[in-house]
Amino acid sequence: MFAHAMASPHHPIVAQIIPIRRCNLACTYCNEFDKHSPPVPTDEMLRRIDKLGALGTSIITFSGGEPTLHPDLDLLIRRVRERNAIATIITNGYYLVPDRIKRLNAAGLDYLQISIDNVLPDDVSKKSLKVLDRKLEWLAQYADFDVTINSVLGSGINQSEDAFKVAERARQLGFNSTVGILHDGGGQLKPLNPVQMNVYERIFGLGTGLFSFAHLDAFQRNTIRGLPNPWHCPAGERFLYVCEEGLVHYCSQQRGYPAIPLERYTREDLIREGAKPKGCAPFCTISCVHQTAMLDDFRTRPRETLAGIITRRKERDPGWQPPASVRALEYMFLRDARKRGFFRAVALKLFRLNNN
Ligand code: SF4
Ligand code: SF4
Repeated sequence: MFAHAMASPHHPIVAQIIPIRRCNLACTYCNEFDKHSPPVPTDEMLRRIDKLGALGTSIITFSGGEPTLHPDLDLLIRRVRERNAIATIITNGYYLVPDRIKRLNAAGLDYLQISIDNVLPDDVSKKSLKVLDRKLEWLAQYADFDVTINSVLGSGINQSEDAFKVAERARQLGFNSTVGILHDGGGQLKPLNPVQMNVYERIFGLGTGLFSFAHLDAFQRNTIRGLPNPWHCPAGERFLYVCEEGLVHYCSQQRGYPAIPLERYTREDLIREGAKPKGCAPFCTISCVHQTAMLDDFRTRPRETLAGIITRRKERDPGWQPPASVRALEYMFLRDARKRGFFRAVALKLFRLNNN
């Protein structure tokens, strides 16, 4: 995915696709579900996956609604893998039992993310550690794919301290952990209050997985303080949201733009929509789109981007030791350029990066 993202600026890095809008839960902050929609017919889903493959999509993520409610999810995951894309799902985890996890293994799932909102269920959300802890243990025991547990902070969540307990449990079970900032219906955010900020910093203190963009990015640190981010949102090109009706939107919070049927979406559409300025960008909280922008930043300005990531991480945690993947990039791009010239030249050529 990384090499492909570096090599070509005009294909989707991530496409989020909705196999069913129905959800078994009803979190009060959520605007991405209903209680009645049938699954998108399997043949139609296969056509959409093929089309995303033809556009060169690197990662195809099933979300919803609740994607495990689709009766042929395993078949859809297999098709993603056959199209040489990475298959991921975002689920509320309620239907995960050992047999279901083993079937996801067999289908070739690469990555699964669960967001957990609180320790005990409340009126806002039933995505609770108490309800899901047994599922997490089964995932730790049976899953062959990577698992990330996302804990959530934001104005709609009652107990900020719960986010720390969720992140702590995720690390204890050996999973990656990220912090999601709850956005409003436009993908925007109110600044976190001091209690939420304190929890946010303590979660980072738990340590990070390997080269985790979610933990290394600068975007989130601005948005939690209510500061704008000076970036260009590449949605419509590097990130696509394909709704249950098969229309391409910028993201889940900006449905209706450009709302072109995926079957008719072309390379020209990618280039045009990706280049359009988005008025919602300065206070956007959609971290998966931030991450695609970071990859492009690395493609066009590898030395500055890498140096910025490492500096910010070390400022927060002076004892931090970069993982092997970061050390390799640091060796190629940031150490004495004369001695590393050969490796840097090879990397630049391999990934077709700008030589700046
Ligand atoms: S589980 Fe996910 S899709 Fe379902 S209502 Fe909650 S946030 Fe929305
Ligand atoms: S900036 Fe981009 S990702 Fe964020 S809300 Fe707007 S269109 Fe969606």
